[in-house]
Amino acid sequence: MGKVDLHIHTTASDGVLTPEEVVQAAIDKGLSAIAITDHDTVEGITQALTAAQHADLEVIPGVELSAEQDSREVHILGYYIDRQSRALQRKLEVLRQARKERASKMVRKLARMGLPVSWQRVQEIAGNSSAFGRPHIARALHERGYVASVNDAFRRYIGLDGPAYVARYKLSPKQAVEMIRAAGGLPVLAHPWRQREMVAGLAGLGLVGLEAYCPGYSAEESGELVRLGEKYNLIATGGTDFHGYGENGVRPLGDAPVPMQALLRLRALAGRRMDG
Ligand code: AMP
Ligand code: FE
Ligand code: FE
Ligand code: ZN
Repeated sequence: MGKVDLHIHTTASDGVLTPEEVVQAAIDKGLSAIAITDHDTVEGITQALTAAQHADLEVIPGVELSAEQDSREVHILGYYIDRQSRALQRKLEVLRQARKERASKMVRKLARMGLPVSWQRVQEIAGNSSAFGRPHIARALHERGYVASVNDAFRRYIGLDGPAYVARYKLSPKQAVEMIRAAGGLPVLAHPWRQREMVAGLAGLGLVGLEAYCPGYSAEESGELVRLGEKYNLIATGGTDFHGYGENGVRPLGDAPVPMQALLRLRALAGRRMDG
């Protein structure tokens, strides 16, 4: 059985590959399952499901919501979410509108700092995405030669402490979990290493899992997160948080050592909730 990657972004949010391209790359790599987890949108899911229709690849519908607690970012993934839910779509639309306004504020801030990029161009880079993210702005900065890479743009200008940073709307983790559950999804705490002391509190909100296998996590760190998960009955999941930018292209896709057991447990929970 092939590998699974449960954290992937596409052009529907701030990824570089279309949902079809992600599916093709996953097929080429022989993965058995992928989850599409775009920021604040479920728009890429139908395309991915269609592209995988005749392949031996499971596509799990997902989403990634950004929340904030104690001035720290907390990301919550939602698996097996009902992408047709009108209530979900309405709420996501509000979040995306806030993203758009915030992105244009950052562009104005950059212009005042002597780093003009056109809003038009940022929109072009975002393409079909309605979920504007800092990576779109980073790519515009890179293209103009103001920064050496997307990462450099975050480091110098648009990271949390950067001079052009503008905060986004603030969902609480509780609101994010409730939004996912209301749409039939399974909430999982994303890349929680730096938030691991918050897990005890967050576990009580209705999470079913936490990511333990993420890029850059050592075996010791993953082990610590697995044990933390066991303590609160959370499934240890993970994925590459694939975005497709950088010189590595599709190489990282499927590279996180996510155990098949994680997917089986999520699947069982999703089934149980659908039956019940
Ligand atoms: P936003 O959702 O607009 O606040 O942007 C956050 C997103 O930017 C994250 O979900 C990542 O996809 C990406 N990101 C954050 N930090 C970096 C970085 N240092 N280099 C590249 N991408 C980053
Ligand atoms: Fe992202
Ligand atoms: Fe994230
Ligand atoms: Zn992500």
